[in-house]
Amino acid sequence: MTNVLVTGGAGYIGSHACKALKAAGYTPVCFDNHSTGWEEAVKFGPSIKGDLLNPSEIATAFEKYNPVAVMHFAALSQVGESMQKPGKYWRENVLGAVNLVEAAVAHGCTNFVFSSTCATYGEHDNIQLDEDTPQEPINAYGASKKAIEDILQNFADSHDLNHVIFRYFNVAGADPEGEIGEFHQPETHLVPLMLDAIEGKRPALTVFGTDYDTPDGTCIRDYVHVMDLVDAHILGLKWLQDGKGNAVFNLGTGSGFSVREVAAHSKAVTNKEVPIVEGPRRAGDCTKLVSGSEKAEKVLGWQPTRSTLETMITDAWRWHQNGHYTK
Ligand code: UDP
Repeated sequence: MTNVLVTGGAGYIGSHACKALKAAGYTPVCFDNHSTGWEEAVKFGPSIKGDLLNPSEIATAFEKYNPVAVMHFAALSQVGESMQKPGKYWRENVLGAVNLVEAAVAHGCTNFVFSSTCATYGEHDNIQLDEDTPQEPINAYGASKKAIEDILQNFADSHDLNHVIFRYFNVAGADPEGEIGEFHQPETHLVPLMLDAIEGKRPALTVFGTDYDTPDGTCIRDYVHVMDLVDAHILGLKWLQDGKGNAVFNLGTGSGFSVREVAAHSKAVTNKEVPIVEGPRRAGDCTKLVSGSEKAEKVLGWQPTRSTLETMITDAWRWHQNGHYTK
């Protein structure tokens, strides 16, 4: 049995990673405190309810399942909240990661795949971001993820712990087979909020800022389908198992879309109006985050197949109408 410890496996991206791992012949062992994840999303392997702030619970998971690798998704991930509660982000994201990395080293687990973010880059005037762009995060979420990248580098220098770091752009979409999807409580992400507004579950989508220096005044992001994203993780895992060493990859498509453009695509896919109100900027938001790198395609052989806005919104819409977790 080839076990992979998946922290945050009950969450949005982690649960899709578990599905992809199972399809690739691994056994995903979900480690999650269920603070934001859902037991119902754990469908593809064993489930451990545990907390990264509790080292003994992590040790028990390594001892019981002897994983060949860790995929570390568990994290707080809301930009806005991170600006209100930075201590929470440093404690849960950074201390949790230190505990996890130390446990991996202590148990001889040498392969570590880490879920990082384009928010580590911060504001860079209208350039496309590649892996060598200086990391200057402007919010506590991005800063906490950058700190974990640094921790991984320190452990790579001092111990036999190899890492692949993925810097995600904006993840959207859902499992096209409808088994799992995106569901946060409370929801803060653009696409599910927009679909809620379309369905009348919210009065409207509030656009956070219409005075950015972009063609239509709203923020621009690079959206990538969750299934494509987790495919890259399988390639990253194999990369590590083949002994290819430490690496960092952006995961984005290189195409940027404004909030208003996402709304226009949502209208086209659902054939329904998107009720919109214009609001002030959200603290911590960068103007534009678009990947300028094809490194994952060229080096890792990653081939995204579902990352058009139309397919992402179609898959998200299908899930949105049919599936929600309750426990
Ligand atoms: N956004 C928005 N209204 C919302 C939620 C998000 O206008 O209710 C914008 C947000 O300012 C950003 C983009 O949508 O420009 C994506 O935000 P999200 O929170 O989904 O992801 P993030 O970029 O923070 O990782």
